[in-house]
Amino acid sequence: MNALAATNRNFRQAARILGLDSKIEKSLLIPFREIKVECTIPKDDGTLVSYVGFRVQHDNSRGPMKGGIRYHPEVDPDEVNALAQLMTWKTAVVDIPYGGAKGGIGCTPKELSISELERLTRVFTQKIHDLIGVNTDVPAPDMGTNAQTMAWILDEYSKFHGYSPAVVTGKPIDLGGSLGREAATGRGVVYATEALLAEHGKSIKGLTFAIQGFGNVGSWAARLFHERGGKVVAVSDITGAVRNPNGIDIQALIQHKETTGKLADFSGADAMDANDLLTHECDVLVPCALGGVLNRENAGDVRAKFVIEAANHPTDPDADEILSKKGVVILPDIYANAGGVTVSYFEWVQNIQGFMWEEDKVNHELKRYMTKAFHNIKGLCQSHDCNLRMGAFTLGVNRVARATLLRGWEA
Ligand code: NAD
Repeated sequence: MNALAATNRNFRQAARILGLDSKIEKSLLIPFREIKVECTIPKDDGTLVSYVGFRVQHDNSRGPMKGGIRYHPEVDPDEVNALAQLMTWKTAVVDIPYGGAKGGIGCTPKELSISELERLTRVFTQKIHDLIGVNTDVPAPDMGTNAQTMAWILDEYSKFHGYSPAVVTGKPIDLGGSLGREAATGRGVVYATEALLAEHGKSIKGLTFAIQGFGNVGSWAARLFHERGGKVVAVSDITGAVRNPNGIDIQALIQHKETTGKLADFSGADAMDANDLLTHECDVLVPCALGGVLNRENAGDVRAKFVIEAANHPTDPDADEILSKKGVVILPDIYANAGGVTVSYFEWVQNIQGFMWEEDKVNHELKRYMTKAFHNIKGLCQSHDCNLRMGAFTLGVNRVARATLLRGWEA
């Protein structure tokens, strides 16, 4: 089942639990606006090349729409649609005053020079500048984009609308980015895990963790689990996987990866088959890489007691069912990885205030938002007798439905 079908299924189930009427259900499902633009740029050798850029703005009833922009050869309108919808529920789950959006350009960023990427980003911004904005739609980095991409969008947008740092988040600190934003998704994953474990009378210290993906989210989550006394016993990325039943020294692994560009040949752990990471013996499994990695084929072999969905949509609906039957507790993506967008919200607030927060304040507020959201989700799990995924969906969908009804239907 693709990401859009799975997201729609979860939404419909939540709508049934909440007893939403069909008019509001339909209104919440259909995106507010879908934008598709042609972006033609001269390559460095003078030839012209065209790319297609997308922005799906899903819902704005609770505030400006918010979501990443990805540069990837397989940017697919269906997936962008699903991810935009997930952003609507995610921002509502953590109760930040945003709606949801997502966008991208179908390109292979590795094959473009820095100046070609800059031209492409500027042309894309020119095409959508009157549809995004501080109070309309606030993009952020995603796969294949980064703080530099946001700096170009900020600069191009400001040519049309005046200096507007709050039009994008995930910016370089020198241009109004927030302290703590880089670590925020991984840190949020750790706060979410702490809240879940506390509910089960456990804590990170002494538990074992297996982590798929060692990029921004995976490496920060691993570092913070390790700092709190968790034993990270297996880590994988696109280059391979390593394991150590006594716990991997994560700081040393990060240094090894920075120096060699790969996980292999790390002296503090043994090599393992990356395909076995998801079924490795551990207490807590944390997928931090791709969507759909837990599926009908491997879910039955998962040995973890807890799955923390740090990646977007890592568990397909078949796996969800199999894992639930095995008694595995799944912390859903629309809550578990919401730390990034939460600190993006803090960045936007700081830009609007024209005032920069200390990193300690950012982390303290992030913990407050993540912990509060967990207790709100648990409350709904109890009142609706449902799992954490449906607890999170009903929380998010209900908040958006209430805002939509309060704002009214009259044209
Ligand atoms: P990233 O590009 O920094 O890292 C991705 C990691 O996944 C890399 O280590 C890569 O080697 C690894 N990977 C790729 N294919 C793999 C495979 N087949 N097996 C094992 N590892 C593989 O990306 P990121 O920002 O860390 O994002 C990771 C996930 O978290 C994505 O699903 C993303 O949508 C989600 N997410 C990220 C953020 C954020 O703020 N960065 C926020 C919310 C959700």
